[in-house]
Amino acid sequence: MCLGLIGTGFGSAYNARPRLVVIVVIDQFRGDYLERYRDQWGEGGFRLLLDHGADFTDCNYDYANTRTAPGHATLLTGAYTNGHGIMANEWWDPQKKAMVEAADDDQTKLVGISGDASGSSPRHLLADTLGDELKLATQGKSRVFGIALKDRASVLPAGYAANGAYWIDRATGAWVTSTYYRSELPRWAQDFNESKRAEKYLNQDWKDGNGNVLRSTRPVAGKPVNFYDLVGSTPLANDYEFEFARELITYEKLGSGPATDVLIISLSANDILGHKVGPDSAEMQAMALAMDRQLAGFFEFLGHQIGLANVWIALSADHGIAPLPKVAAELHLPAASISGDKIRAQINSALSARFSHAGEYVEDLDYPVTWLNSDAFAAVKVNEQEAERVVGEALKTAGLRAYYTRSQLERGDAPNTELGLKYLHSYSPLGGWYVLGVPPPFTIGFIGGTDHATPYTYDTHVPLAFYGLPFQPGTYHTHAEPVDLAPTLALLLGINAPSHSVGRVLTEALPLPRRVLGSARRGVQEERSTPEIEGSRFSPGAASAAEAANHSTAVNAALKRCSTQQLKSCLTQSQKQCAVASQNLSVSGRAVVMRDIGGSAAGGTQ
Ligand SMILES: [Zn+2]
Repeated sequence: MCLGLIGTGFGSAYNARPRLVVIVVIDQFRGDYLERYRDQWGEGGFRLLLDHGADFTDCNYDYANTRTAPGHATLLTGAYTNGHGIMANEWWDPQKKAMVEAADDDQTKLVGISGDASGSSPRHLLADTLGDELKLATQGKSRVFGIALKDRASVLPAGYAANGAYWIDRATGAWVTSTYYRSELPRWAQDFNESKRAEKYLNQDWKDGNGNVLRSTRPVAGKPVNFYDLVGSTPLANDYEFEFARELITYEKLGSGPATDVLIISLSANDILGHKVGPDSAEMQAMALAMDRQLAGFFEFLGHQIGLANVWIALSADHGIAPLPKVAAELHLPAASISGDKIRAQINSALSARFSHAGEYVEDLDYPVTWLNSDAFAAVKVNEQEAERVVGEALKTAGLRAYYTRSQLERGDAPNTELGLKYLHSYSPLGGWYVLGVPPPFTIGFIGGTDHATPYTYDTHVPLAFYGLPFQPGTYHTHAEPVDLAPTLALLLGINAPSHSVGRVLTEALPLPRRVLGSARRGVQEERSTPEIEGSRFSPGAASAAEAANHSTAVNAALKRCSTQQLKSCLTQSQKQCAVASQNLSVSGRAVVMRDIGGSAAGGTQ
């Protein structure tokens, strides 16, 4: 089987164009979780990507804005905040004199529930997305959708030209969209809401493997039902999202059109629970293990519905999470919980005394970011530069290590250090006057739980993994960033990268172009970077590396034709047939490491 496929390389992106690209973003899924629970993942979930895809273990955001809205914008624009403009989940709007949310759009209305509430759109985005570029390249024939419990996680990654973005009404769990996309829900989504499927997720117990109840979704008597909070803190919320995603794929016939379609699904439950219980709790472990099974079920659905050979899957997260301060402090790390409101009040009273004028100089402090009230400073004749400096100094007095001001970052004035670069990447022209505080590590601006929004690895480290025909399976320890996702997929789709993309194409996970094989252009082969593969390196002569790359691509291609259910027997079969091929390849004494087959198949057949 695999020998017969040698020579069907994927030098041209067009040969391998998929019917559907699915981008799974797990909200607050730290990069180390995949390794932490590696021995507990079952077949076909995370291991579909880890064992049969290209897994980048060292992927970190290179900015300080590790929040949900910026993270989702970053993944699909291939740009940081200084490109896409989204710096936070909400910011101070000096015109409206109010905090606005990243996906807020009062020119639109919510669709799907009664009432006159304003809706959401991607109008704050200053860059386009992968889906937008695909729409441009196909004259609109590609269809692009976003799904999440949160509007920002659905709307921003889907982009301007998306066919739809869906999120939930937090009280009832009903799926909604906005008039930006359409004036009423499609029939299938109306039917979904009317069949009262949200209700079946209430009054449920979430149990661990031993039958112990971890959490209940039973509404508290006398309190209004909040579906988002009750169900959202359990894996049931992922079931609910996948149930909706399956309906969307079925009724919108994703993967059956004339061009590649895109679905971005952001799983929000991990974040809702993670803030409450922290990354090291038994509940978060149970959530991750449940998600593994849920992903396996969803990937199996994709296999049946569209065929895994026709789907590319990418997996990442919008940010990580800090340990609970209590947990870190027990290990003698200098951890602390700090109340942003308390610091805000302290700064306002200090500045009121300093300027002999009572005022709300700081409007909002979403630790460690501070939004200034320019009107209050204007009343005491203090300009932006000075206002941001005095607030920054006040933040240092309150315990922050350093600060960067909006006016400073606008000038590109930051020290030529790794940290300085992270803050330059965090600049946005949106949001009026602001100061980005640099917190001490493990200091959390959240009482009674934990948080993210720092430039430190516990917040920046996220998974980045790809599954699909063009990806060379393996574990890659090379440097990667979430901005690499969009330009890598764009290259493979044969389209332009998004407008402000700064990511690199992850060439080490892509097989050699077919045209060099068997040709005299050895120089081209040798120039290609060789992947650093778990436990070994592809560092033999260029010819055998090329053969190995092509060979394992062919094997991989064969595997992609199997459903997840058949994977086990396919692997065994390919292993036998590939043993012959491997022997042939090492005839000249050059060792060829087939980690993707040898390594994973061993695990896969146990
Ligand atoms: Zn998030």
